[in-house]
Amino acid sequence: MAKLTFYGGLNSIGGNKILLEDSDTRIFLDFGMDFGKQAKYFEEYMKPRVGNGLGDWAEMGLIPHPKKLKGFYRNDLLKIGNFPIEEVAFDGVLVSHCHLDHTGHLCFMDEGIPVYSSKVTKKMVEVIQETGMGTIETELYKHKLRPVVRGQEPIERQWNAVESGKKFKIGDIEIKPFAVDHSVPGAMSFLIYASDKTIFYSGDFRKHGTYGYLTEEMLKEMENENVDLMLCEGTRVSETENQSEQMVKKKSHKIISKSKGLVIADYAYKDLTRFKTFYEIAKENKRKFAIGLRDALFVRELGSLIDLPSLDDENLLIYLDKRCSGTYCEKDYSKKWMKELYGLDNTMTAEEISRQQKDIIVRMSFFDFNDLVDLKPKPGSEYIHSMCEAFNEEMEFNEKRLHNWLKHFKLPYRFAHCSGHANGIELKEIITGINPKKLTPIHTEKPKEFKKIVSKKTKVEFKS
Ligand SMILES: [Zn+2]
Ligand SMILES: [Zn+2]
Repeated sequence: MAKLTFYGGLNSIGGNKILLEDSDTRIFLDFGMDFGKQAKYFEEYMKPRVGNGLGDWAEMGLIPHPKKLKGFYRNDLLKIGNFPIEEVAFDGVLVSHCHLDHTGHLCFMDEGIPVYSSKVTKKMVEVIQETGMGTIETELYKHKLRPVVRGQEPIERQWNAVESGKKFKIGDIEIKPFAVDHSVPGAMSFLIYASDKTIFYSGDFRKHGTYGYLTEEMLKEMENENVDLMLCEGTRVSETENQSEQMVKKKSHKIISKSKGLVIADYAYKDLTRFKTFYEIAKENKRKFAIGLRDALFVRELGSLIDLPSLDDENLLIYLDKRCSGTYCEKDYSKKWMKELYGLDNTMTAEEISRQQKDIIVRMSFFDFNDLVDLKPKPGSEYIHSMCEAFNEEMEFNEKRLHNWLKHFKLPYRFAHCSGHANGIELKEIITGINPKKLTPIHTEKPKEFKKIVSKKTKVEFKS
Protein backbone atom coordinates (compact mmCIF):
# COMPACT_ATOMS: atom_id res chain seq x y z
CA MET A 1 0.00 0.00 0.00
CA ALA A 2 1.32 3.44 -0.92
CA LYS A 3 2.10 5.70 2.04
CA LEU A 4 2.89 9.40 1.99
CA THR A 5 4.90 11.27 4.62
CA PHE A 6 5.10 15.06 4.45
CA TYR A 7 8.48 16.26 5.71
CA GLY A 8 7.82 19.72 4.31
CA GLY A 9 5.60 21.74 1.99
CA LEU A 10 2.23 21.40 3.73
CA ASN A 11 1.42 24.69 5.45
CA SER A 12 4.11 26.85 3.91
CA ILE A 13 4.90 28.08 0.43
CA GLY A 14 7.57 25.65 -0.69
CA GLY A 15 10.04 23.41 1.06
CA ASN A 16 8.34 20.39 -0.52
CA LYS A 17 9.80 17.15 0.84
CA ILE A 18 7.19 14.45 0.30
CA LEU A 19 8.10 10.79 0.75
CA LEU A 20 6.18 8.12 -1.13
CA GLU A 21 6.70 4.53 0.03
CA ASP A 22 5.14 1.66 -1.84
CA SER A 23 6.24 -1.88 -0.86
CA ASP A 24 10.02 -1.81 -1.43
CA THR A 25 10.17 1.46 -3.37
CA ARG A 26 10.83 4.79 -1.67
CA ILE A 27 10.87 8.04 -3.62
CA PHE A 28 10.83 11.69 -2.68
CA LEU A 29 8.74 14.29 -4.49
CA ASP A 30 11.14 17.26 -4.43
CA PHE A 31 13.54 17.94 -1.57
CA GLY A 32 13.39 21.72 -1.23
CA MET A 33 14.28 24.36 1.28
CA ASP A 34 11.63 26.01 3.49
CA PHE A 35 12.68 29.68 3.42
CA GLY A 36 10.39 30.61 6.33
CA LYS A 37 11.83 27.91 8.61
CA GLN A 38 15.39 28.85 7.71
CA ALA A 39 14.71 32.58 8.27
CA LYS A 40 13.45 31.81 11.77
CA TYR A 41 17.03 31.15 12.89
CA PHE A 42 19.33 32.28 10.11
CA GLU A 43 20.01 35.19 7.77
CA GLU A 44 22.51 36.17 5.09
CA TYR A 45 25.46 36.54 7.47
CA MET A 46 24.40 33.84 9.92
CA LYS A 47 24.09 30.54 8.14
CA PRO A 48 24.13 26.87 9.16
CA ARG A 49 27.78 25.73 9.23
CA VAL A 50 28.84 23.34 6.48
CA GLY A 51 31.82 22.64 8.72
CA ASN A 52 29.42 20.84 11.07
CA GLY A 53 28.13 18.56 8.30
CA LEU A 54 24.39 18.06 8.65
CA GLY A 55 24.55 19.00 12.34
CA ASP A 56 23.14 22.57 12.27
CA TRP A 57 20.39 21.78 9.75
CA ALA A 58 19.30 18.68 11.70
CA GLU A 59 19.41 20.36 15.14
CA MET A 60 17.28 23.33 14.02
CA GLY A 61 14.75 21.10 12.26
CA LEU A 62 15.47 22.41 8.76
CA ILE A 63 15.87 18.90 7.35
CA PRO A 64 14.31 15.60 8.47
CA HIS A 65 16.59 14.26 11.20
CA PRO A 66 19.11 11.67 9.96
CA LYS A 67 17.83 9.29 12.65
CA LYS A 68 14.39 9.37 10.96
CA LEU A 69 15.67 9.28 7.41
CA LYS A 70 18.22 6.49 7.52
CA GLY A 71 20.02 5.82 4.26
CA PHE A 72 19.24 9.15 2.59
CA TYR A 73 22.01 11.60 3.34
CA ARG A 74 25.59 12.00 2.08
CA ASN A 75 28.08 9.92 4.08
CA ASP A 76 30.67 12.70 4.23
CA LEU A 77 28.19 15.15 5.81
CA LEU A 78 26.81 12.50 8.18
CA LYS A 79 30.31 11.64 9.35
CA ILE A 80 31.26 15.27 10.09
CA GLY A 81 28.00 15.74 12.01
CA ASN A 82 28.69 12.54 14.03
CA PHE A 83 25.66 10.68 12.69
CA PRO A 84 25.81 6.95 11.90
CA ILE A 85 26.37 5.92 8.29
CA GLU A 86 23.71 3.67 6.76
CA GLU A 87 23.25 1.87 3.44
CA VAL A 88 21.35 3.82 0.77
CA ALA A 89 17.64 3.08 1.32
CA PHE A 90 15.91 5.31 -1.26
CA ASP A 91 15.27 4.78 -4.96
CA GLY A 92 14.99 8.28 -6.37
CA VAL A 93 13.80 11.87 -6.21
CA LEU A 94 11.38 13.50 -8.65
CA VAL A 95 12.36 17.13 -9.11
CA SER A 96 9.47 19.25 -10.38
CA HIS A 97 11.53 22.37 -11.28
CA CYS A 98 14.62 24.28 -10.30
CA HIS A 99 13.41 26.72 -7.66
CA LEU A 100 15.27 26.40 -4.37
CA ASP A 101 12.06 25.68 -2.43
CA HIS A 102 11.98 22.43 -4.44
CA THR A 103 15.67 21.64 -4.90
CA GLY A 104 17.55 23.49 -2.12
CA HIS A 105 18.25 20.51 0.15
CA LEU A 106 19.06 17.97 -2.56
CA CYS A 107 22.68 18.89 -1.90
CA PHE A 108 22.53 16.75 1.27
CA MET A 109 21.30 13.63 -0.51
CA ASP A 110 23.56 10.61 -1.05
CA GLU A 111 25.03 10.73 -4.53
CA GLY A 112 23.89 7.11 -5.10
CA ILE A 113 20.21 8.13 -5.19
CA PRO A 114 19.13 9.04 -8.73
CA VAL A 115 17.32 12.28 -9.60
CA TYR A 116 14.61 12.56 -12.28
CA SER A 117 13.62 15.88 -13.89
CA SER A 118 13.11 17.50 -17.28
CA LYS A 119 16.18 18.07 -19.46
CA VAL A 120 15.76 21.84 -19.00
CA THR A 121 15.76 21.57 -15.19
CA LYS A 122 18.87 19.39 -15.38
CA LYS A 123 20.67 21.98 -17.52
CA MET A 124 19.53 24.91 -15.36
CA VAL A 125 20.79 23.25 -12.20
CA GLU A 126 24.16 22.78 -13.90
CA VAL A 127 24.40 26.43 -15.03
CA ILE A 128 23.24 27.75 -11.63
CA GLN A 129 25.97 25.74 -9.94
CA GLU A 130 28.60 26.89 -12.41
CA THR A 131 27.72 30.57 -12.06
CA GLY A 132 26.80 30.55 -8.36
CA MET A 133 28.59 31.77 -5.26
CA GLY A 134 29.56 28.22 -4.30
CA THR A 135 27.04 27.82 -1.46
CA ILE A 136 26.15 24.24 -0.54
CA GLU A 137 22.51 24.78 -1.61
CA THR A 138 23.59 25.19 -5.25
CA GLU A 139 25.88 22.12 -5.08
CA LEU A 140 23.27 19.98 -6.77
CA TYR A 141 24.81 18.65 -9.89
CA LYS A 142 28.19 17.65 -8.51
CA HIS A 143 30.11 18.05 -5.27
CA LYS A 144 33.45 17.43 -3.65
CA LEU A 145 33.48 15.28 -0.55
CA ARG A 146 33.84 17.25 2.70
CA PRO A 147 36.25 18.13 4.14
CA VAL A 148 37.59 19.07 0.72
CA VAL A 149 41.06 17.77 -0.05
CA ARG A 150 43.17 19.58 -2.63
CA GLY A 151 43.06 18.13 -6.12
CA GLN A 152 39.97 16.03 -5.37
CA GLU A 153 37.66 15.42 -8.33
CA PRO A 154 33.98 16.27 -7.83
CA ILE A 155 31.34 13.51 -7.80
CA GLU A 156 28.50 13.90 -10.30
CA ARG A 157 24.98 12.95 -9.30
CA GLN A 158 22.97 10.44 -11.33
CA TRP A 159 20.63 12.98 -12.89
CA ASN A 160 18.16 11.49 -15.38
CA ALA A 161 16.30 13.65 -17.89
CA VAL A 162 12.71 12.49 -18.46
CA GLU A 163 10.39 13.53 -21.28
CA SER A 164 6.89 14.93 -21.01
CA GLY A 165 4.28 12.23 -21.69
CA LYS A 166 6.81 9.34 -21.60
CA LYS A 167 6.36 6.90 -18.77
CA PHE A 168 9.35 5.68 -16.77
CA LYS A 169 9.86 3.44 -13.75
CA ILE A 170 11.55 3.86 -10.39
CA GLY A 171 11.65 0.50 -8.62
CA ASP A 172 8.13 -0.88 -8.93
CA ILE A 173 6.43 2.46 -9.49
CA GLU A 174 5.52 3.77 -12.93
CA ILE A 175 5.52 7.55 -13.43
CA LYS A 176 4.28 9.80 -16.21
CA PRO A 177 5.73 13.33 -16.28
CA PHE A 178 3.96 16.32 -17.84
CA ALA A 179 5.54 19.63 -18.84
CA VAL A 180 3.60 22.53 -17.28
CA ASP A 181 3.83 26.32 -17.30
CA HIS A 182 5.61 28.08 -14.40
CA SER A 183 7.92 31.07 -13.87
CA VAL A 184 10.95 28.94 -14.59
CA PRO A 185 11.28 26.80 -17.73
CA GLY A 186 11.30 23.01 -17.54
CA ALA A 187 8.64 22.67 -14.80
CA MET A 188 6.84 19.32 -14.55
CA SER A 189 3.90 17.72 -12.80
CA PHE A 190 4.05 13.96 -12.17
CA LEU A 191 1.38 11.27 -12.39
CA ILE A 192 2.42 8.37 -10.18
CA TYR A 193 0.85 4.93 -10.60
CA ALA A 194 1.34 3.45 -7.11
CA SER A 195 0.17 -0.10 -6.35
CA ASP A 196 -3.21 0.84 -4.86
CA LYS A 197 -3.75 4.42 -6.04
CA THR A 198 -2.86 6.93 -8.72
CA ILE A 199 -1.35 10.14 -7.36
CA PHE A 200 -0.97 13.45 -9.22
CA TYR A 201 1.80 15.73 -7.90
CA SER A 202 1.41 19.28 -9.19
CA GLY A 203 4.83 20.84 -8.48
CA ASP A 204 4.25 24.57 -9.15
CA PHE A 205 2.09 25.58 -12.10
CA ARG A 206 -0.10 28.17 -13.80
CA LYS A 207 -1.99 28.65 -17.06
CA HIS A 208 -1.50 32.37 -17.68
CA GLY A 209 2.13 32.39 -18.86
CA THR A 210 3.49 32.29 -22.41
CA TYR A 211 3.60 28.49 -22.12
CA GLY A 212 0.14 28.14 -20.56
CA TYR A 213 -0.69 25.75 -23.40
CA LEU A 214 1.56 23.14 -21.75
CA THR A 215 -0.73 23.07 -18.69
CA GLU A 216 -3.74 22.85 -21.03
CA GLU A 217 -2.13 19.93 -22.90
CA MET A 218 -1.50 18.17 -19.60
CA LEU A 219 -5.18 18.59 -18.70
CA LYS A 220 -6.20 17.08 -22.01
CA GLU A 221 -4.00 14.02 -21.40
CA MET A 222 -5.40 13.71 -17.88
CA GLU A 223 -8.95 13.24 -19.23
CA ASN A 224 -8.17 9.54 -19.65
CA GLU A 225 -6.70 9.03 -16.19
CA ASN A 226 -8.40 8.19 -12.90
CA VAL A 227 -6.71 10.12 -10.14
CA ASP A 228 -7.26 8.97 -6.57
CA LEU A 229 -5.23 11.69 -4.91
CA MET A 230 -4.04 15.08 -6.14
CA LEU A 231 -1.26 16.86 -4.24
CA CYS A 232 -2.02 20.38 -5.39
CA GLU A 233 -0.05 23.59 -4.89
CA GLY A 234 -2.10 26.49 -3.57
CA THR A 235 0.22 29.48 -3.35
CA ARG A 236 -2.55 31.80 -4.62
CA VAL A 237 -5.64 29.71 -3.86
CA SER A 238 -7.44 32.67 -2.23
CA GLU A 239 -6.63 35.14 -5.05
CA THR A 240 -8.70 35.96 -8.11
CA GLU A 241 -6.64 38.80 -9.60
CA ASN A 242 -4.97 37.65 -12.75
CA GLN A 243 -2.25 39.30 -14.74
CA SER A 244 -0.93 37.34 -17.71
CA GLU A 245 2.47 37.43 -19.41
CA GLN A 246 0.70 39.10 -22.33
CA MET A 247 -0.50 41.89 -19.99
CA VAL A 248 3.03 42.32 -18.58
CA LYS A 249 4.26 42.69 -22.15
CA LYS A 250 1.61 45.24 -23.07
CA LYS A 251 2.16 47.36 -19.96
CA SER A 252 5.96 47.32 -20.29
CA HIS A 253 5.76 48.03 -24.01
CA LYS A 254 3.71 51.15 -23.32
CA ILE A 255 6.22 52.47 -20.75
CA ILE A 256 9.21 51.73 -22.95
CA SER A 257 7.74 53.20 -26.13
CA LYS A 258 7.40 56.56 -24.35
CA SER A 259 10.82 56.55 -22.68
CA LYS A 260 13.51 58.89 -23.94
CA GLY A 261 16.27 57.44 -21.79
CA LEU A 262 17.61 54.13 -20.52
CA VAL A 263 15.14 51.40 -19.53
CA ILE A 264 16.02 49.07 -16.66
CA ALA A 265 14.09 45.78 -16.47
CA ASP A 266 14.29 43.98 -13.12
CA TYR A 267 13.10 40.37 -13.15
CA ALA A 268 14.18 37.04 -11.62
CA TYR A 269 17.15 35.71 -13.57
CA LYS A 270 15.72 32.18 -13.84
CA ASP A 271 12.52 33.54 -15.39
CA LEU A 272 13.46 33.01 -19.03
CA THR A 273 9.85 33.63 -20.08
CA ARG A 274 10.29 37.20 -18.84
CA PHE A 275 13.65 37.40 -20.62
CA LYS A 276 11.87 36.55 -23.85
CA THR A 277 9.12 39.10 -23.14
CA PHE A 278 11.64 41.94 -22.70
CA TYR A 279 13.73 40.73 -25.64
CA GLU A 280 10.63 40.99 -27.85
CA ILE A 281 9.67 44.42 -26.47
CA ALA A 282 13.21 45.66 -27.11
CA LYS A 283 13.01 44.46 -30.71
CA GLU A 284 9.60 46.06 -31.25
CA ASN A 285 10.93 49.38 -29.89
CA LYS A 286 14.13 49.21 -31.93
CA ARG A 287 16.21 48.95 -28.81
CA LYS A 288 18.86 46.38 -27.99
CA PHE A 289 18.49 44.19 -24.91
CA ALA A 290 21.60 44.13 -22.70
CA ILE A 291 21.92 41.14 -20.35
CA GLY A 292 24.64 40.31 -17.82
CA LEU A 293 27.21 37.53 -18.14
CA ARG A 294 25.28 34.99 -16.07
CA ASP A 295 22.08 35.64 -18.05
CA ALA A 296 24.06 35.28 -21.26
CA LEU A 297 25.31 31.86 -20.17
CA PHE A 298 21.71 30.75 -19.54
CA VAL A 299 20.74 31.90 -23.02
CA ARG A 300 23.71 30.07 -24.58
CA GLU A 301 23.19 26.82 -22.67
CA LEU A 302 19.39 26.64 -22.82
CA GLY A 303 18.79 28.32 -26.16
CA SER A 304 18.39 25.12 -28.15
CA LEU A 305 16.13 23.51 -25.54
CA ILE A 306 13.57 26.28 -25.12
CA ASP A 307 13.81 28.33 -28.28
CA LEU A 308 15.75 31.39 -27.16
CA PRO A 309 17.59 33.77 -29.52
CA SER A 310 21.25 32.97 -30.07
CA LEU A 311 23.85 35.05 -28.25
CA ASP A 312 25.03 36.71 -31.46
CA ASP A 313 21.47 37.88 -32.21
CA GLU A 314 21.63 41.48 -33.47
CA ASN A 315 19.16 42.61 -30.78
CA LEU A 316 21.19 41.26 -27.86
CA LEU A 317 24.12 42.83 -26.02
CA ILE A 318 26.21 41.30 -23.25
CA TYR A 319 26.68 43.73 -20.43
CA LEU A 320 30.09 43.54 -18.70
CA ASP A 321 29.88 44.45 -15.05
CA LYS A 322 32.82 46.36 -13.57
CA ARG A 323 34.99 43.99 -11.57
CA CYS A 324 38.23 43.99 -9.51
CA SER A 325 40.51 46.40 -11.43
CA GLY A 326 37.65 48.55 -12.69
CA THR A 327 39.19 48.59 -16.16
CA TYR A 328 37.14 45.78 -17.78
CA CYS A 329 40.40 43.94 -18.55
CA GLU A 330 40.28 40.25 -19.44
CA LYS A 331 41.90 39.22 -16.16
CA ASP A 332 38.88 40.52 -14.21
CA TYR A 333 36.71 37.81 -15.78
CA SER A 334 38.64 34.85 -14.46
CA LYS A 335 36.21 31.92 -14.61
CA LYS A 336 36.28 29.78 -17.75
CA TRP A 337 32.68 30.56 -18.76
CA MET A 338 33.23 34.29 -18.20
CA LYS A 339 36.32 34.27 -20.41
CA GLU A 340 34.37 32.63 -23.24
CA LEU A 341 31.66 35.30 -23.08
CA TYR A 342 34.12 38.16 -22.60
CA GLY A 343 35.63 37.33 -25.98
CA LEU A 344 32.35 37.82 -27.91
CA ASP A 345 31.84 40.79 -30.24
CA ASN A 346 28.64 42.15 -28.71
CA THR A 347 29.89 42.91 -25.17
CA MET A 348 29.41 46.41 -23.81
CA THR A 349 30.51 48.29 -20.70
CA ALA A 350 28.30 50.52 -18.55
CA GLU A 351 30.02 53.61 -19.95
CA GLU A 352 29.27 52.48 -23.54
CA ILE A 353 25.63 51.78 -22.65
CA SER A 354 25.42 55.18 -20.96
CA ARG A 355 26.26 56.87 -24.27
CA GLN A 356 23.34 55.15 -26.08
CA GLN A 357 20.66 55.15 -23.39
CA LYS A 358 17.59 55.61 -25.57
CA ASP A 359 18.58 52.61 -27.70
CA ILE A 360 18.96 50.05 -24.90
CA ILE A 361 17.00 48.09 -22.28
CA VAL A 362 19.27 46.67 -19.60
CA ARG A 363 18.38 43.74 -17.31
CA MET A 364 19.44 44.55 -13.80
CA SER A 365 18.45 43.65 -10.25
CA PHE A 366 18.81 45.58 -6.99
CA PHE A 367 22.07 43.75 -6.36
CA ASP A 368 23.55 45.35 -9.50
CA PHE A 369 22.52 48.87 -8.55
CA ASN A 370 26.14 50.04 -8.03
CA ASP A 371 26.28 50.02 -11.81
CA LEU A 372 23.84 52.95 -11.89
CA VAL A 373 26.80 55.11 -10.82
CA ASP A 374 28.44 54.28 -14.18
CA LEU A 375 25.25 54.11 -16.26
CA LYS A 376 24.15 57.62 -15.20
CA PRO A 377 20.52 57.34 -16.30
CA LYS A 378 19.32 60.48 -18.08
CA PRO A 379 15.97 62.20 -17.47
CA GLY A 380 13.22 60.17 -19.15
CA SER A 381 14.77 56.85 -18.07
CA GLU A 382 12.55 54.14 -16.60
CA TYR A 383 12.83 51.33 -14.05
CA ILE A 384 10.36 48.43 -14.40
CA HIS A 385 9.98 46.12 -11.41
CA SER A 386 8.95 42.86 -13.04
CA MET A 387 8.99 40.47 -10.11
CA CYS A 388 6.92 39.92 -6.98
CA GLU A 389 6.84 42.68 -4.40
CA ALA A 390 8.20 42.26 -0.85
CA PHE A 391 6.34 39.70 1.26
CA ASN A 392 8.62 39.46 4.30
CA GLU A 393 10.64 41.77 6.55
CA GLU A 394 14.00 41.19 4.87
CA MET A 395 12.53 41.91 1.44
CA GLU A 396 10.87 45.06 2.78
CA PHE A 397 14.25 46.36 3.94
CA ASN A 398 15.71 45.68 0.51
CA GLU A 399 12.75 47.33 -1.17
CA LYS A 400 13.23 50.47 0.92
CA ARG A 401 16.86 50.55 -0.21
CA LEU A 402 15.77 49.99 -3.81
CA HIS A 403 13.45 53.01 -3.60
CA ASN A 404 16.27 55.11 -2.12
CA TRP A 405 18.48 54.28 -5.09
CA LEU A 406 15.69 55.05 -7.55
CA LYS A 407 15.04 58.37 -5.85
CA HIS A 408 18.73 59.24 -5.97
CA PHE A 409 18.88 58.62 -9.72
CA LYS A 410 15.42 60.14 -10.31
CA LEU A 411 14.12 56.89 -11.77
CA PRO A 412 10.35 56.36 -11.55
CA TYR A 413 9.19 53.01 -10.13
CA ARG A 414 6.93 51.08 -12.50
CA PHE A 415 5.46 47.66 -11.85
CA ALA A 416 4.61 44.99 -14.43
CA HIS A 417 4.52 41.40 -13.26
CA CYS A 418 2.49 38.20 -13.30
CA SER A 419 2.90 35.38 -10.81
CA GLY A 420 4.31 31.92 -11.51
CA HIS A 421 1.33 30.37 -9.74
CA ALA A 422 -2.27 29.71 -10.71
CA ASN A 423 -4.84 31.78 -8.85
CA GLY A 424 -8.03 30.35 -7.32
CA ILE A 425 -9.97 30.51 -10.60
CA GLU A 426 -7.25 28.72 -12.58
CA LEU A 427 -6.83 26.16 -9.80
CA LYS A 428 -10.54 25.40 -9.89
CA GLU A 429 -10.34 24.77 -13.66
CA ILE A 430 -7.25 22.59 -13.28
CA ILE A 431 -8.74 20.53 -10.42
CA THR A 432 -12.02 20.10 -12.33
CA GLY A 433 -10.00 18.89 -15.34
CA ILE A 434 -8.06 16.34 -13.29
CA ASN A 435 -11.14 15.35 -11.29
CA PRO A 436 -9.39 13.62 -8.35
CA LYS A 437 -11.28 11.63 -5.72
CA LYS A 438 -9.23 13.29 -2.97
CA LEU A 439 -7.06 16.39 -2.85
CA THR A 440 -4.37 17.32 -0.35
CA PRO A 441 -3.33 20.99 -0.40
CA ILE A 442 0.43 21.58 -0.45
CA HIS A 443 2.70 24.63 -0.98
CA THR A 444 0.15 26.97 0.61
CA GLU A 445 -0.46 29.00 3.74
CA LYS A 446 -4.22 28.75 3.19
CA PRO A 447 -5.06 25.04 2.76
CA LYS A 448 -8.66 25.53 3.97
CA GLU A 449 -9.40 27.77 0.97
CA PHE A 450 -9.38 24.68 -1.27
CA LYS A 451 -12.75 23.69 0.20
CA LYS A 452 -14.23 26.74 -1.52
CA ILE A 453 -12.98 25.85 -5.00
CA VAL A 454 -13.32 22.08 -5.34
CA SER A 455 -16.51 20.36 -6.48
CA LYS A 456 -18.49 17.95 -4.29
CA LYS A 457 -16.91 15.04 -6.15
CA THR A 458 -13.51 15.79 -4.62
CA LYS A 459 -12.81 15.35 -0.91
CA VAL A 460 -10.21 17.73 0.54
CA GLU A 461 -7.96 15.83 2.92
CA PHE A 462 -5.65 17.89 5.15
CA LYS A 463 -2.40 16.31 6.26
CA SER A 464 -0.06 17.25 9.07
ZN1 LIG B 1 7.56 26.49 -5.09
ZN1 LIG C 1 8.46 27.43 -8.25
